[in-house]
Amino acid sequence: MGKGLHRRERKDKATDIAFAMPVAEDAAAHEREAARELRASQWWKNQIAAGKCHYCGGMFKPSELTMDHVIPVARGGKSDRHNVVPCCKACNNAKKARMAVEDILDSLP
Ligand SMILES: [Zn+2]
Repeated sequence: MGKGLHRRERKDKATDIAFAMPVAEDAAAHEREAARELRASQWWKNQIAAGKCHYCGGMFKPSELTMDHVIPVARGGKSDRHNVVPCCKACNNAKKARMAVEDILDSLP
């Protein structure tokens, strides 16, 4: 019982800290967990075994492909088969850079 009480206290504190956007934080954590499960799935193994980057169409070893969210989790994208694609490191980096620029543009008044 003591353990449960401690956990609840910690959770309350975390909620206070994340007060600015608690719902978005919870959703992102949920999607990260879902992505972890998806990455372990046979479906995903088949995707990277096929070896094709979704963006440039290049062929890569499974170890060179990363899991990319077409709509980023931070923007409400889900970790499901409709929103997750194999992506080579070059495309992943290019996409990250583009998203960073979009974030800066979005932040302008
Ligand atoms: Zn690529």
